[in-house]
Amino acid sequence: MDFNGKTALVTGGSRGIGRAVALGLAALGANVVVNYVRGADAAEEVVAKIKQLNGQAKAVQADVSDHGQAAKLVEDVVTEFGAIDVLINNAGITRDGLILRMSEEDWHKVINTNLSGAFNCTQAAAKKMIKQRKGSMVNISSVVGLIGNAGQSNYAAAKAGLIGLTKSVARELSARNVRVNALAPGFIMTDMTENLNEDIKSSIIDRVPLGRLGTAEEIANAVIWLASDEASYITGQVLVADGGLAM
Ligand code: NDP
Repeated sequence: MDFNGKTALVTGGSRGIGRAVALGLAALGANVVVNYVRGADAAEEVVAKIKQLNGQAKAVQADVSDHGQAAKLVEDVVTEFGAIDVLINNAGITRDGLILRMSEEDWHKVINTNLSGAFNCTQAAAKKMIKQRKGSMVNISSVVGLIGNAGQSNYAAAKAGLIGLTKSVARELSARNVRVNALAPGFIMTDMTENLNEDIKSSIIDRVPLGRLGTAEEIANAVIWLASDEASYITGQVLVADGGLAM
């Protein structure tokens, strides 16, 4: 895979899966914009690591759930590097709760970040990619969007919504040589899953045929492949990387 001369925007690129994707893309030659919302230090650490390897990167703060901030983020990418070839819609949060107890605020917060955030960045990036007549987007969904999960109705709805967004935008942009795919990870060791108690973790592992949680790097490998020219005839697809959990 070769990303030399290409520019990628990774939303939520400062930690976890996004961080692994940002580092992986940079290692393959991409210029990378590492987006974050609060953790400037973590984002700058990713940028420093990329620069140590002679890559080009920049950290840009933006709340993707804000339409204006997302549009400015994409403008910043183009101003800095001249184009946007790859968009990884990765920024995401959880606010878990059973349906009877879920607050309206927690519902909207997760939908606004995980689903509307992807819409906001997709719309802004699509305008650029249509003009460039090339581009590729990968939306980070989840197996939870395919099979549901008790206590995560907001998160599962957002992640299922991302699949509809992926397929619709793939249909709209195919004629302009822009591909759009989704990656649905299973349970991956990041800050997001760190707080799960040990009983829940071991019950998840019991259900995973490969018998373990995944790593951020394992997800990044699949995301980067989908974003690359090696996947040039693939669009509108959902690739599941979950150790066999949802098969
Ligand atoms: P982490 O919690 O480790 O990292 C989340 C990242 O998203 C951080 O960089 C964070 O930035 C950023 N972020 C959060 N809210 C916003 C926002 N409003 N605007 C911009 N950036 C934001 O998450 P993971 O790496 O675990 O997850 C990454 C993606 O993968 C998410 O979409 C998640 O739903 C999905 N996923 C994760 C799975 C897992 O098991 N871990 C499984 C399936 C899917 P900051 O540090 O500044 O807050």
